[in-house]
Amino acid sequence: MLEIINQCRCCESDELVLVHDFGKVPIADVLTDTKTVLEVYLLSAVFCKNCYHFQIRENISPKILFQNNYPYYSSKIPEVVQHFEETYQAISQYLAIDNQDTIIEIAANDGVLISQFKTQTKHLISIEPSTPHAEITEKLGITTYNRFFNKKTAGIVKKIFYKPQS
Ligand SMILES: [Zn+2]
Repeated sequence: MLEIINQCRCCESDELVLVHDFGKVPIADVLTDTKTVLEVYLLSAVFCKNCYHFQIRENISPKILFQNNYPYYSSKIPEVVQHFEETYQAISQYLAIDNQDTIIEIAANDGVLISQFKTQTKHLISIEPSTPHAEITEKLGITTYNRFFNKKTAGIVKKIFYKPQS
C-alpha cells in the first residue's frame, strides 16, 4: 500500500534531502465532504542533491490513488481549464510546433491541455492511469495509454520514436 523511496526517482542517487514532512494526510481527491472518516498516508517532499529533482518520497498503491471512481476531472474546473489554455498559449509561443511533431502529456487527465494541440499536430499521446479519463482522451482521437508513466511505459513510448541510425 505504501512504499517509502530511498533513491531519487530520476537518477537513483540516495542523496535525498527532506524539504517538508506533511505527516499523515488523506488523499486529496477523496475530500468530497467533511463527515467521512478518511484513511491517511505519510507524505513528505524531498530534494535530490545530485540531479535537483524535487519529488514525493512516498509511493501509494495505484489501486488506491486511481480507482475507477477517481473524481478529479480537469475539464470540470474553469480555473484549471483557463490555466491550461494559458499554458497552451505559452508553449505555442515558445515552441514552433508543426504537424510532424508529437506531443506527449503524462497524466493527461481528461485531455484539457493536450487536446488544444490538435490544431497544430495530429500526433498526440496521452498517458493517463485512470480508465474513465483515458476513455475520454481516446474519444477525442488522442492516442492513449491507460497506465502509469514509469520505466515500462517510457520503454513503450521510446519504441514509437526511437529510430536507430543505419
Ligand atoms: Zn536525482
